Amino acid sequence: MASGGPPVYRGRIAPSPTGHLHLGHARTFWIAHGRAESHGGVLVLRNEDLDADRVRREFVEAFFEDLRWFGIRWQEGPDCGGPHGPYSQSERRAVHQEAFERLRAAGQVYPCVCSRKDIQAAVRAPHAADDEPLYPGTCRCRPVDAVPAGRPVSWRFRVPDGEVLTWNDGGQGSQARIAGRDFGDFVVVRPDGVPSYQLACVVDDHAMGITEVVRGADLLVSTARQILLYRALGWAPPAFFHCPLLTDAQGVRLSKRHAALSLRTLRDTGAHPSELRAAW
Ligand code: GLU
Repeated sequence: MASGGPPVYRGRIAPSPTGHLHLGHARTFWIAHGRAESHGGVLVLRNEDLDADRVRREFVEAFFEDLRWFGIRWQEGPDCGGPHGPYSQSERRAVHQEAFERLRAAGQVYPCVCSRKDIQAAVRAPHAADDEPLYPGTCRCRPVDAVPAGRPVSWRFRVPDGEVLTWNDGGQGSQARIAGRDFGDFVVVRPDGVPSYQLACVVDDHAMGITEVVRGADLLVSTARQILLYRALGWAPPAFFHCPLLTDAQGVRLSKRHAALSLRTLRDTGAHPSELRAAW
């Protein structure tokens, strides 16, 4: 980079190896790929494999193969290395832990003993239709030393109720979400010590020098949560670009359940990536 020049564009794609990639992933990743290319920048592939219960090794191998078949190329990742590794989140637990300790020392998080399904689910990115319910704040005011012994504890980020989080989204225009109304105190570490998607994503995007996050519009509310985490950790957030979602013929967002639209099946039935892209 020339001194004083604009920072080099660094984008990322972040597949979770919990199923096969489908056409919706391909479109978002294709946009991320195109934006990195048109900015003369770098695309990072990060393997989001924190959810040990759902991650399968075969899905990691499959996403590499499917992404390459589709024509997506990256310059840093678990397969090719790079200066910001490791590129698999399961190998980055120490970096996540360090950020958590800072949040804890600053009083930004509190222990929560509520046993809720969403605590278990926290490690997954909450896509719009399954975003977590507003946390009612049951454990918010309990002093840390009053947590009942022996109870499994998760840690929640205390959101500033009523604050309007705004950003200018590259894909969706001007955005505003209200803390405490559009989303509540959210989990940053699960009772088993696994960092949540929100925490791991922010820590890794920051550590990997990502300048623009490109992802699906179902993660817009998560972006508001993440902007709060950036601020609490004293980091400048990257730019955000949320892509429109692909839906099936019934208008339902594509998910890993749409097996017929998985990249594998499309390839096996003779589809060509260029023809699939032409339909967009
Ligand atoms: N691994 C996440 C997912 O499957 C990525 C979310 C993101 O791009 O921040 O949705």
